[in-house]
Amino acid sequence: MKRLFLMAVSLIAIASCSTTRNIEKAEEITQLQVSYSDYFTGKTMRYDFHHAGDYNNEYYYFDKLIREGEWAGSHVSLINPFDYGEQHFRILDATSGKVIYKNNYCTLFNEWQTTPEAVTTARSFPESVIFPEPKNDFVIEFYARNKESKVWEKKQSHKVCVNDFNINPSHNNFESIDRHIGGDIAHSFDIVLLPDGFTEAEKEKFIEACHTWSAALFSYAPFTQNGHRINIRAVWAPSQDSGISIPGTGEWKNTLLECRFYTFNSERYQMTEEFQKVRDVAAAVPYESIFILTNTDKYGGGGIYNHYGLGSAGKTGRTGEVYVHEFGHSLMGLGDEYIEKGNTVSALYPEGVEPWEANLTRFVDFNGKWENRISKETPIPTPRIEGSTAEEWVIGAYEGGGYLEKGIYRGWPECMMKALTDFCPVCQEAITKYLDYLCK
Ligand SMILES: [Zn+2]
Repeated sequence: MKRLFLMAVSLIAIASCSTTRNIEKAEEITQLQVSYSDYFTGKTMRYDFHHAGDYNNEYYYFDKLIREGEWAGSHVSLINPFDYGEQHFRILDATSGKVIYKNNYCTLFNEWQTTPEAVTTARSFPESVIFPEPKNDFVIEFYARNKESKVWEKKQSHKVCVNDFNINPSHNNFESIDRHIGGDIAHSFDIVLLPDGFTEAEKEKFIEACHTWSAALFSYAPFTQNGHRINIRAVWAPSQDSGISIPGTGEWKNTLLECRFYTFNSERYQMTEEFQKVRDVAAAVPYESIFILTNTDKYGGGGIYNHYGLGSAGKTGRTGEVYVHEFGHSLMGLGDEYIEKGNTVSALYPEGVEPWEANLTRFVDFNGKWENRISKETPIPTPRIEGSTAEEWVIGAYEGGGYLEKGIYRGWPECMMKALTDFCPVCQEAITKYLDYLCK
């Protein structure tokens, strides 16, 4: 449930007249190795800003800097080499101009830009990124993909003096709970689980939901084999009210993270627009990835790459599968492999442009995805034999995915990102590679 706004495409196509502005393309980063101890203090720095605009424009407005706890990420993998996401940011040493950190991500603002509201109305969303705290003055640069060409364009540059007395300390007294500790934080992938809509009296219910989440994750390959390098911690942060707001039926709740259904008027799209509040709570533990568990039995959730994932904790039935599906989005931006019947055009996956997602292709830039895993005997596109079983399937290029019936391909007939079954071999390999990078 990552992207639900395809209905807006035709409207947007009409409204899309480009405004004149100076566009600065992203310079390639040639030096991917950075010495952590030379450039970073060991702590985390957080940069809060407002991401604002409309369909045609986007702007970044600085809010504040915060010094947080120990840096949870790798000390080796500092420049994200995967070309995933709709956004990325870079940290440059102010004196030498050298790029010392880069990470990619997506945001709720990116999705909102594809809604009809963005054609007529300008809005802002509170956003935030974290990175290892630099020892010396630095420049932070933000980049976004051009919507049509998907080429990276520089949007914002801000020089920061590390001795600026306006940099805030972190205030966080929330209780933390270790759920699963696989290894030391620098060499493990650190996940934090956050509650929303659980009252003081519902702590045990939240802890139970955290057990369910962890058990679900480790029941699917390749996570099953990677428990030794995954840490899962929870933060206990109660809400005033029990439950989650459902604006479409007039039910409003006072909850800590302000999660709600009907995000962008889509009933099942349950997210929060208050991302800085999410970071405020998450800062109780060292973390790289956030997943929010909401106290509701209503079906819904979402997952945005390197932003956060969210799932209903009270829903009986396929809760675990939904958690893991949404985590596939939030971990590394895996694309939905399902098809929406009759859907032939998508602004998300324009013709002639390779999707950045590891598990979808339009054969524009297939090299580096799963091309080398397809045997020479396998026909392209690969037909799915009626009545065949998983044991008989081969890695290929099966037509349909990314909500489209035609012109886009996935590597396996079924997947967690399609029908909540096991991850397909293509996704499993991509996840393992990503974990290898994160855990160096
Ligand atoms: Zn897959």
